[in-house]
Amino acid sequence: MKLMLTCEHASNRLPASFKKAIPADVLKTHRAYDIGACAVFRKLIRFAKPEFHCEGKFSRLFVDLNRTITNKSAFSEYHEALDVCDKAAAEKAKAQATAYWMEYRDTIEKFVDSALKPKTRTAKSEPSVVHLGIHSFTPELNGKVRNADIGILYDPARPQERAYAQVIKAEIKRLYPAMKVRFNYPYKGTSDGLTTTLRKKFGPRYVGIEIEINQKFFQR
Ligand SMILES: [Zn+2]
Repeated sequence: MKLMLTCEHASNRLPASFKKAIPADVLKTHRAYDIGACAVFRKLIRFAKPEFHCEGKFSRLFVDLNRTITNKSAFSEYHEALDVCDKAAAEKAKAQATAYWMEYRDTIEKFVDSALKPKTRTAKSEPSVVHLGIHSFTPELNGKVRNADIGILYDPARPQERAYAQVIKAEIKRLYPAMKVRFNYPYKGTSDGLTTTLRKKFGPRYVGIEIEINQKFFQR
């Protein structure tokens, strides 16, 4: 088994081409990035020493690495706003965002592809990749308080993912008994995203799980 860690929403930075499109105060909010996720992700890298890791370097308001590029929500409304005031700049930013998205996805797919290829034909067990995507969620959305500390997202139709999700939950509960851990909350593991794409592309030997951490742990 090979471990892969990713953090699509690690950063709230913007490339120079898109800096004027987003107000500075918006960049500080959960809309721009997964607050706290990058710190947890980097700690996990040191602790778990994955075979491969990858983190987003720009805000999801530039482009959301956890959406299919053909999904309208991959691009925030700030692209349209920029288009109204500066069409050339908007086109340039969108092209750059698309190229950045492609490069990110490509790097990950190349790793999974090579990791799943058996090195020798006599290999007894088939190689597999376990992917943990590290995310965080805002404690309150549209006036509704989210009722969980950690969410574990997976596809319930896939036995391997179900098994790993249960092990992760059990281990969190062993270390932190008071922690409220929920499956497929606050999002479904089967919604459009990186794991869903990789499942379709690589089949059952790819195991994709997303860990969603409540941002209340990172607020002062
Ligand atoms: Zn996220």
